[in-house]
Amino acid sequence: LDRRHLVRRDPAELERLERHPEAGFVVVWRERSLVVEDGTARAALLNSADVQSLLDAETRSTLVLLGFEGELPRFAFDVSALEEPERHPALASAGDFLDLRQVAPRVPARDGNLLAYARAMTTWHRRHRFCGVCGAPTESRDAGHLRVCTRSTCAQQGFPRTDCAVIMLVHDGGERCLLGRQAAWPPGVYSTLAGFVEPGENLEHAVAREVFEEVGVRVGHVTYHSSQPWPFPASIMLGFWAEATSEQIEADPSEIEQAHWFTRQQIVEQMASGQLRLPPRMSISRRLVDDWLNPDPGSLSR
Ligand SMILES: [Zn+2]
Repeated sequence: LDRRHLVRRDPAELERLERHPEAGFVVVWRERSLVVEDGTARAALLNSADVQSLLDAETRSTLVLLGFEGELPRFAFDVSALEEPERHPALASAGDFLDLRQVAPRVPARDGNLLAYARAMTTWHRRHRFCGVCGAPTESRDAGHLRVCTRSTCAQQGFPRTDCAVIMLVHDGGERCLLGRQAAWPPGVYSTLAGFVEPGENLEHAVAREVFEEVGVRVGHVTYHSSQPWPFPASIMLGFWAEATSEQIEADPSEIEQAHWFTRQQIVEQMASGQLRLPPRMSISRRLVDDWLNPDPGSLSR
């Protein structure tokens, strides 16, 4: 998706794009995404004719220009005000409103990205209708990428925020890594540790603090791996490998039910026997584990 931010401040161009015969509109209802399932699952994109009956002052205040696929504009807006969206003529046969967390493993990456972006932006609009400084209503600007307080003496600007979370595979520099599980998870499911970055903290400190808080293990060298947007509602997961400098596990029972050191061989064997289950392959948690199980030569010391 080409976000082409300069277009956001061009009202005439935005009006033209909204009427573009091949414009595509992603619709979100109460944080659920409109998805078509006909054998495979994909994002339901309405066209500009379809959406005219849905766009009123309220829904328009959440309208966002997401960007362009090639030259085709992609928008998103929120229809949460509808009590029964499936009864609306424009939505009746358009698809089903589903939880993106459940549907994400089944949609192509392009659709997943579009739905995630749309969900994050519409949620932000819903949660920032009033100014955090003076309490007056805010209004949308810049094609839905800015909200401004309507009280002229305040005029506070609000931009969509992304909360940083760290997620880390703790390893011992050799054959073992540390995985934990929460009590609410299905039996046998283990994952990497994770937590939010706190104000005033750098990412390395956040990794070390979260690991120590959750399992009582100290970590030293921290290596960045990769990241994944996590719009539930507004996070990005920053993935790391972290090398432990202590071994003894003391799990915080309020966060972690159990945590163990696993060797590579134990993970492979216990997954084959069904005793151990890891998060789905689309998740960064799984990528952190999979890449550690099958490292490129030298990558662990990168
Ligand atoms: Zn204000």
